[in-house]
Amino acid sequence: MCSQRILHNTSRGLVSFCDECRKFQLCFGTCAIQFEVGEFRCFCEFVQHHDFGYSAEVNIKDKRIPLPGDFTNLLLTTTEYESLKIVLGSALASLQIEQMLGDMGISTNRETDLS
Ligand SMILES: [Zn+2]
Repeated sequence: MCSQRILHNTSRGLVSFCDECRKFQLCFGTCAIQFEVGEFRCFCEFVQHHDFGYSAEVNIKDKRIPLPGDFTNLLLTTTEYESLKIVLGSALASLQIEQMLGDMGISTNRETDLS
């Protein structure tokens, strides 16, 4: 049975992890996307580090972000893209805090072993 653990939940979006399925879920805009652990890692890496260059037009969906499976992309405006970076950054920070507490022997009862 799924037990979604919330890593980030604001008006910008939601990231959760299911300890049973070992999948991440990202809800952002009109999309709800599931990722395997490795896929989520690659997705975060791409979003946080890809250089889209400068765009003066903030209302055009010119940021194309590939999703697992090769056939689907997210198309985002600059504003949406910045929002997604905040959502993912916050979720990753939550994971790091859990990891650190686990390493210190402080059980959060919600450790995520992503190795
Ligand atoms: Zn599940």
